[in-house]
Amino acid sequence: MAAYEAKQAGLDYVVIEKGLIGNTIYNYPVGLTVFSTTNELEFNEGDLKPAREKPTREELLSYYVRFVLDNDLNIRTEETVLSVSEPGAIATGFCVTTDKSSYEASRILFAIGAMDFPRKLNVPGEDLPKVHDHFRETYPWVKKKALIVGGGNSAGEAALFLAQEGADTTLAIFRNDWESTDPKQGCIKYWVKEPLEQELAEHCLRLFFLGKVIEIRENEVELENENGDRVVIENDVVFVLIGSDADLTMMKSLGVETEQGKYGEVPVYDPETFETNVPGVFVAGHFTNQRHIKGAIDAGRSVIAYIRTGNNSE
Ligand SMILES: Cc1cc2nc3c(=O)[nH]c(=O)nc-3n(C[C@H](O)[C@H](O)[C@H](O)COP(=O)(O)OP(=O)(O)OC[C@H]3O[C@@H](n4cnc5c(N)ncnc54)[C@H](O)[C@@H]3O)c2cc1C
Repeated sequence: MAAYEAKQAGLDYVVIEKGLIGNTIYNYPVGLTVFSTTNELEFNEGDLKPAREKPTREELLSYYVRFVLDNDLNIRTEETVLSVSEPGAIATGFCVTTDKSSYEASRILFAIGAMDFPRKLNVPGEDLPKVHDHFRETYPWVKKKALIVGGGNSAGEAALFLAQEGADTTLAIFRNDWESTDPKQGCIKYWVKEPLEQELAEHCLRLFFLGKVIEIRENEVELENENGDRVVIENDVVFVLIGSDADLTMMKSLGVETEQGKYGEVPVYDPETFETNVPGVFVAGHFTNQRHIKGAIDAGRSVIAYIRTGNNSE
């Protein structure tokens, strides 16, 4: 959104993306139906036209890719930002160094998401090749014994895909996460939980109320249940889906202050302009307090509107 608005405003802008256009959505499970409605996902009202009420990963990704192409937005993909010089290091503002080039900019918008550092269990065996921190698709795991560790929507959806498509599936989850009806970010949403309960009833899925994971081994996993009893279960593949974090190092090295937000460490920023304490450095999206697509879109709009007025640091 920020790129589109910047172009409309006649600003000289570039987007550096280390992956592909819509990389986070590209990494959603294949065939996933997203939970947001079109009005929370589209850039212009009525633009996103899914076949059903909510779009699939493929429909959403295609919409974002088309938006970039149709508007000829200046996005450089498969290029990683490595560093940003401190403010004032060069006369024009900031020098951005990537693995392919370098750029000068008077303002920087960090919209780096929070998917890059999946959280770890830190248990023996977590580095085995059968352990994944990302669920992509079911078919390699049909008839395999799959264990999912996690209590949020990503873990719930992975368990559902696997159980429905023929993997022998166990979801290891803290009882609080399973029983919570608190609509907090991260818990399993009812539209995922209801089909999971159906799979449980049909014996395609097992729940394990977790104390902790003890060890992952080649053909089995040792778990401790909520009462402290240890069990060993046969296993072919493990998905550790316990959330991920952003890397704020680059921002901090620029002098951006952080604080404890609702979901973890977040940069300090003005909630209207999205400018941080470092003049000319803005933030948007999932690593701020706005953890959904709509929030990311709205922030992009606000940042450019603010820059456009010229009522801010040059
Ligand atoms: C399975 C799943 C389903 C979801 N469903 C929904 C949903 O239905 N509705 C909803 O609102 N949200 C949903 N979300 C959350 C949503 O994807 C995020 O809130 C959204 O993508 C945040 O947008 P963003 O622009 O902040 O970050 P991202 O979309 O993560 O984009 C950040 C980009 O920055 C790039 N990047 C990071 N570091 C660098 C670097 N150093 N150099 C260059 N590029 C870099 C990354 O490659 C990435 O493409 C879902 C998330 C998951 C995992």
